[in-house]
Amino acid sequence: MNEEIAKALERAHRVLIITHIDPDGDAIGSLLGLGLALEKMGKKVTMACENPVPRRFLYLPGSDRVVPYPMGSFEIVVALDASDLRRLGKAYSPELYGELPLINIDHHVTNPGFGTLNWVDPEAAATAQIVLELVEGMGAPLEPDVATCLLNGIVTDTRGFRTVNTTPQTLEAALKLQRAGANLVEVMENVFDRRPLGVLRLWAHILSQAQLEDRIIWAEKPRSLLEKFGLNDEGNYGLTNFMVGVEEADVAVIFSEKPGGEIDVSMRSVPGVDVSKVAAKLGGGGHPQAAGCRLKGTFQEVREKVLKELRKAL
Ligand code: 5GP
Ligand code: MN
Repeated sequence: MNEEIAKALERAHRVLIITHIDPDGDAIGSLLGLGLALEKMGKKVTMACENPVPRRFLYLPGSDRVVPYPMGSFEIVVALDASDLRRLGKAYSPELYGELPLINIDHHVTNPGFGTLNWVDPEAAATAQIVLELVEGMGAPLEPDVATCLLNGIVTDTRGFRTVNTTPQTLEAALKLQRAGANLVEVMENVFDRRPLGVLRLWAHILSQAQLEDRIIWAEKPRSLLEKFGLNDEGNYGLTNFMVGVEEADVAVIFSEKPGGEIDVSMRSVPGVDVSKVAAKLGGGGHPQAAGCRLKGTFQEVREKVLKELRKAL
């Protein structure tokens, strides 16, 4: 438990909580879980993320409350699941909020500790696992809606308790959340078993174009595919994870075109290969088996740069 962070939040009345761009289930689960818990303590809470909540997480309580550009007067800012300050995107305005204390709660091994106060625990399987400890430490009530959001974070970041960082502590946290009223089956179904048809069509397209060289399987996702398959830009629904399951590969990479001439690089690796170091070297971050970065350039330029670094790491 980080007492200093718990105390700082207990003292504050108006809290701004921000999670990272292109949010995943841990980002949204941690954001809503902490936000709702602080509200139950009587605080005024604003929850922010530059990009909309992906549709598979819209079932979560409070998902309609997330705003892209928070306005108002706050006493403290909390960053959740963000491996560096840039990952907060435009939801964090240094001009407006740079003077306020910034609490950094995260579990990425590459996190540089950019906050005024930092709680970075790379042993935690999910940021939601740390948030649970914080909520308990502050003596906030652990009600079913909070528990569901936090379980959503743990389940998604561990891919259903399958990643190497799933420890007894992770399972204990999940058990606690289930006992508090989170519906494990509902979480699993929403995050893993339901997806729009367009996502299947997108997968089929990407997989048919995937290339394998030097035990690296990679594919490109131009923005035109979003319109073609009627999709929003809300992630790949776990396709990079699926690709790293290919027996002939140790690393999987999806290059996704983003607005503003940037390419997002999503990487996965088998245990024993550390993609977080490669991501950090390229200005990004992540976990040993799941990491990423954003680079300017064309697909070809970015691909050559990334594959070169990955070959060195293999
Ligand atoms: P994903 O591939 O699921 O988008 O992200 C993999 C992991 O790397 C996540 O934990 C994510 O937070 C972290 N990460 C840090 N910086 C970046 C980035 O610039 N792009 C991506 N894709 N992931 C990043
Ligand atoms: Mn996470």
